[in-house]
Amino acid sequence: MANLRFKALEAAYSRQKVRPNPPSSKISDYFGSDVFGLRTMEAYLSPDVYKRVKKAIESGHKIGDDTASAVAAAAKVWAMEKGATHYTHWFQPLTGSTAEKHDSFFDGSSKLEKFKGAALVQQEPDASSFPNGGIRSTFEARGYTAWDPSSPMFIHGVTLCIPTIFVSYTGEALDYKAPLLKAVQRVDDAATKVCQLFDRKITRVKPSLGVEQEYFAIDKALYTSRPDLVMCGRTVFGHSPARGQQLDDHYFGAIPSRIYDFMQDFECEALKVGIPVSTRHNEVAPSQFEVAPLFEEINVACDHNQLLMDVMSRVAERHNLHILFHEKPFAGLNGSGKHNNWSLITNTGVNLFQPSSSARENLLFLTFFVNTIKAVHAHADLVRASIASAANDHRLGANEAPPAIMSVFIGSQLAQVVEELEKSGNIQIEKGDNMYMKLGIDKIPEIILDNTDRNRTSPFAFTGNKFEFRAVGSSDNCASPMTILNLIVADQLNKFYDVVSADIEKGTDKRVAIVKELQKYIKESKNVIFGGDGYSDAWVKEAEKRGLSNVKNTPGALKAYLTKSSVDLFERNNVLNKREIEARNEIRLENYIMKVQIESRIMGDLVYNHIIPTAISYQNRLIQNANGLKGLGIDNSAVVKTISEISEHIETLKNSVTSMTDERKRINNIEHSDKKASEYCDNIKEKYFDKIRYAVDKLELLVDDEDWPLVKYREMLFLR
Ligand code: ADP
Ligand code: MG
Repeated sequence: MANLRFKALEAAYSRQKVRPNPPSSKISDYFGSDVFGLRTMEAYLSPDVYKRVKKAIESGHKIGDDTASAVAAAAKVWAMEKGATHYTHWFQPLTGSTAEKHDSFFDGSSKLEKFKGAALVQQEPDASSFPNGGIRSTFEARGYTAWDPSSPMFIHGVTLCIPTIFVSYTGEALDYKAPLLKAVQRVDDAATKVCQLFDRKITRVKPSLGVEQEYFAIDKALYTSRPDLVMCGRTVFGHSPARGQQLDDHYFGAIPSRIYDFMQDFECEALKVGIPVSTRHNEVAPSQFEVAPLFEEINVACDHNQLLMDVMSRVAERHNLHILFHEKPFAGLNGSGKHNNWSLITNTGVNLFQPSSSARENLLFLTFFVNTIKAVHAHADLVRASIASAANDHRLGANEAPPAIMSVFIGSQLAQVVEELEKSGNIQIEKGDNMYMKLGIDKIPEIILDNTDRNRTSPFAFTGNKFEFRAVGSSDNCASPMTILNLIVADQLNKFYDVVSADIEKGTDKRVAIVKELQKYIKESKNVIFGGDGYSDAWVKEAEKRGLSNVKNTPGALKAYLTKSSVDLFERNNVLNKREIEARNEIRLENYIMKVQIESRIMGDLVYNHIIPTAISYQNRLIQNANGLKGLGIDNSAVVKTISEISEHIETLKNSVTSMTDERKRINNIEHSDKKASEYCDNIKEKYFDKIRYAVDKLELLVDDEDWPLVKYREMLFLR
């Protein structure tokens, strides 16, 4: 049998090195060189136009037509000087990747290349093939992309890319960015209102985000030789290598040289387009790595993460590598996440989650800290839903990296502060009292001395001056969880503000009014605070006692979007309307169904076309051997035993794949996608996947290595 596996291995292990080639040894020489950011704009725009653009970007206000035309003209000149020939509206449809349609600056109508303000501000891509959950039927294929000036244009290859939102002809959001921008505005409004209780100089609050991106890098030939990786992004079969991650030696170990070259190369490309990548290291599993940029304003950070994944994939090609962003490409090894580090920062430069050495300022910190906990507690199901996907289901609750139970880790010292605050009872302030001591918040500065007790098992952790949402999947668009987080915090802050300001109006001391409300929130939401081992069975039981939900799969989790309270929340804050929510859920469900369906099909293909034929041909050799031994009068019972073991596994595979296929046919006739998705989960994935995999992985151990058709884990994962 012509064995593709050996060809792939030969290619993988005889690669020439590809050296990175940065334009300069100083990053500052080329950081942002391909970005039409404020600095470049200043050089290319008239002072007047520049001022207007800058102001519009900073205040989030609309940019007028004249200004847009001037920006377009300048962007064109700049881009063409840098060798660009095309431009594109760059957007993030709900498919989960980015989309672009390139138009030439040259439009044939004159000798001069053109790019008008109108083309910058709005485009109508033929959007019929993007998912829309039924909002826009394919025959009215019109959707708009509209310029988002708050995220700078950049050059990718020979194309000027313009970050845009994507909405339907009737104005419904069809992408990730549009609702994020709305949620960001809501949290800005709400947080500013609350801040003004403390400091009138605060007039804007912006969320920031720093994204730690985990990924696997494997040789391209090995990747292409595995149909499951190519079709599903994960291996559906493969026996664990003798050495997995038990030794913990990969984490922070020396980065393999081939990967190191790749990292330097993609980081250079990322830096040019303005992504401030700053850290790189090995992750827990072999061939798993992480990259993290410095945090930025959330909208830009989300765009940059999408762009980074794209840059990484493209640069990997040059190095004959393939990047796996899938949450669980290899069973038995650590999965990949995307830690979302989030905080709120005021126009006066204050991080609202930074405890301070002044008790007065710590009341501000506590206000935001406790309101965030309260929001996560109140909307835990929505938070869970925001990171639900077929791929992330392999991670969450699978006895490794964050459980599907949404809890908040705050560290032992803050836990103590929160406890004391809760207990401080009815507060009566007398003249001469040390008010902050009486309010129980004078001790907070101590906590910044020690926030080393990090807890890696928590899905949502406070890490000193920011919250870190760790349950986000590595392939996710951060905009999904970040829309939810900013929305729920905005909504919560609005409620807080209403109660507190009414109380102040009645004559209550401002600080007392604030602390009273925070105490109430702590009582109501302290169940969500958990500092123990999130991977343990004990926590699952404890969480159940506390009334926290533990939704293990996507079809179950997605229901949270459609509850009355969620729809009210979205509509009250004008982030999405009911139709948009329903459409989005439809897309998510369809996506889930498709993913499981593809995995199920590829399993069937591999079993019938690769695994069973290989097992049978090897078994035939064993049968010859057994007969030969028998003829010689030698005991052949060991061989006979292997033959029958192989038979059993083949039998299991045939039966399981056949009935799985029949089940699929039945389920495909179900009309409603929520029911269909649940059935795909329960009656395809849960019922068959492990069973089939078990038999295949056993056969991998039984069959002659020379015959085995699929590249093995140990061959893929330990490439240097
Ligand atoms: P870790 O120990 O979890 O790796 P780091 O300090 O390295 O934490 O930060 C991880 C990410 O968090 C980086 O992208 C960093 O820029 C980001 N980060 C740091 N401070 C903030 C903040 N105030 N808001 C948002 N992100 C932040
Ligand atoms: Mg982290």
